[in-house]
Amino acid sequence: MTTKFSAGGTIEILNPSSDDELPVVIPQRTELCQMCKEAVFKYKCPACAIRTCSLPCVKKHKVDCSGVAKDPVEKVGMSHF
Ligand SMILES: [Zn+2]
Ligand SMILES: [Zn+2]
Repeated sequence: MTTKFSAGGTIEILNPSSDDELPVVIPQRTELCQMCKEAVFKYKCPACAIRTCSLPCVKKHKVDCSGVAKDPVEKVGMSHF
């Protein structure tokens, strides 16, 4: 019996799913309000960048917000000094 090593006689099997390239499909999740986590956010806290959906949630957060919350609406004239 003579064994012949034939170069290039290998059968190449093309794998339908290669491990090198895994199709990573990241579903586009909608950013939810971080206060109630029920609705899509509309507002963003400028202090801590938390996302809120509505004014009630904004107010609810501002009570708990520990960041530097600057209220542009609430301006108190410092003429008392
Ligand atoms: Zn909310
Ligand atoms: Zn905040």
